[in-house]
Amino acid sequence: MEHDIEALRTRSGDEWRKLFDQRYKGTRWPYGSGVWGKREWVMPTVDDDLIVSMDEGGTNLFWAERYGKQIGLSDLWVKLCGNSHSGSFKDLGMTVLVSVVRQAVRDGLRVQAVACASTGDTSASLAAYGAAAGLPVVVLLPRGKITTGQLVQPLAHGALVLGLDTDFDGCMAIVKRLAQEEVVYLANSMNPLRIEGQKTVAIEIVQQFDWEVPDWVILPSGNLGNASALHAGFKMMMDLGVASRMPRLVVAQAEAANPMYRAWIAGKREIEPIRAATTLASAIQIGNPVSAPRAFRALDAMNGIVEQASEQELVDAAAEADATGMYTCPHTAVGLAVLKKLVQRGVIGKTQRVVCISTAHGLKFTEFKVRYHEAQLEHIKSTRANPAVILPPDYDRVSEAIQQRFARA
Ligand SMILES: *Cc1c(COP(=O)(O)O)cnc(C)c1O
Repeated sequence: MEHDIEALRTRSGDEWRKLFDQRYKGTRWPYGSGVWGKREWVMPTVDDDLIVSMDEGGTNLFWAERYGKQIGLSDLWVKLCGNSHSGSFKDLGMTVLVSVVRQAVRDGLRVQAVACASTGDTSASLAAYGAAAGLPVVVLLPRGKITTGQLVQPLAHGALVLGLDTDFDGCMAIVKRLAQEEVVYLANSMNPLRIEGQKTVAIEIVQQFDWEVPDWVILPSGNLGNASALHAGFKMMMDLGVASRMPRLVVAQAEAANPMYRAWIAGKREIEPIRAATTLASAIQIGNPVSAPRAFRALDAMNGIVEQASEQELVDAAAEADATGMYTCPHTAVGLAVLKKLVQRGVIGKTQRVVCISTAHGLKFTEFKVRYHEAQLEHIKSTRANPAVILPPDYDRVSEAIQQRFARA
C-alpha cells in the first residue's frame, strides 16, 4: 500500500514517538491495540465503528538472559508475537484486513466469504476476526499437516474448514483461483492489507527499546510476507524520522522447506519453487513462497542474511530454550537454532542487541513437545527428554525420587 509520506511529515519524528507512546496499551478505542495505535501509518481510512480489533500487538519483549548467556549473547531479546488473541503474529495483519472488508461491505461490496489457504495460523486468525465481524470464512488446509490446536480454532469459530489432501502450496493454488473467479475474497499475505498491520511489529520493537534500534532481528520465515512487513515498518520509521537506521535481518528457514536459503546460497535473486518436505515447523512448510521478491528487497535494504536449521537443530534449540523458561513453538526454535549458529560463526557479536521474533505460542504446538519428551519423534534424538516420573502415592518413594534427581554427588 502507498502512504502519503509527505502528509505524514506534518508531524516530526519526535511527535510521532510521543503520540504512539501516549496511546500504547491504553483504553481509548481503538488506539490501545498495537496496530491501531499506529493507525495513521497503517490504515487511516476505516471508520472507527468498523474496526475489528481484539487488542492485538503490545506483546512482551523480554530479555532472554539465561538462554542468551548459554549461547554467548549478553543482549538477547525475544518478542513474543504469539501472546496474541489467536496465538500467532497473524492477528496483526488480520485485524486490518477484516476491518477493511467490513468497510467495503458497508460501502456496497458483495462478499460471499473471506478465504485463505493456511498452514494453520492464518486460518485460526481469519476465523476469529471473521467471526468477530460476523463475516463468513472459508479456510483451505493441508489435511494432516497442521496441529490439533490449530485445526480446532476455525472449527470453533464456525468457519467452513476444507481439509485437502495436498500441501500448503496446493491449497494456495486453489484459493487463488477461487479469488480470481470472485467466489471469495482472498485473505492471504499477498493481500497488502495484512502487511500493513504486520509491519507494526517493527515499530513496536523499537518503541519498547525507548526508540532505539536493535542490531539484529531474527525472523522464522515461510511464505516471506512477514519479512517484507518488517522491512516496511523499519523503512517507514526511517522515512518519518522515527528511527535513524535499520537492524540487520536474518531470515531463518527450516532445512526441509528452504527455497529462500537455496537461492541465497546460490547467489540468485529468484527462488526456484520446491516441494517442501515435512518439518516440525509446520507453519513454515512452504515450497513456493509468494512474497519472495519482496523478501529479496528486504534483505538488500537491511543488509540481511538467510540461514537454515535442521530438524535436530530446531528441537535442540527448543528444548534448551524451554529449559530456561521459554515455551518455544517449533518456528521460534528455527530462529533460535539459526541464531546459535550465527553466534558460533562470529557473524553476530557477543554484545550486539539481538531480537528473535517468536511467531506463535508454544501451546499451539503441544504434540511436538509431548513427543519430544516421550522420545517419540522420528529421526530425532531427545537429548533433554524429561518424562514424568510415575509413582505410587508413597511418601518414601516420592522423597527418594527427589533425592535421585537433585542430591549432589
Ligand atoms: C505464518 C507463520 C510464519 C511465517 O511467516 P511468513 O510471513 O509466511 O514468512 C512463521 N511462524 C509461524 C508460527 C507462522 O504462523
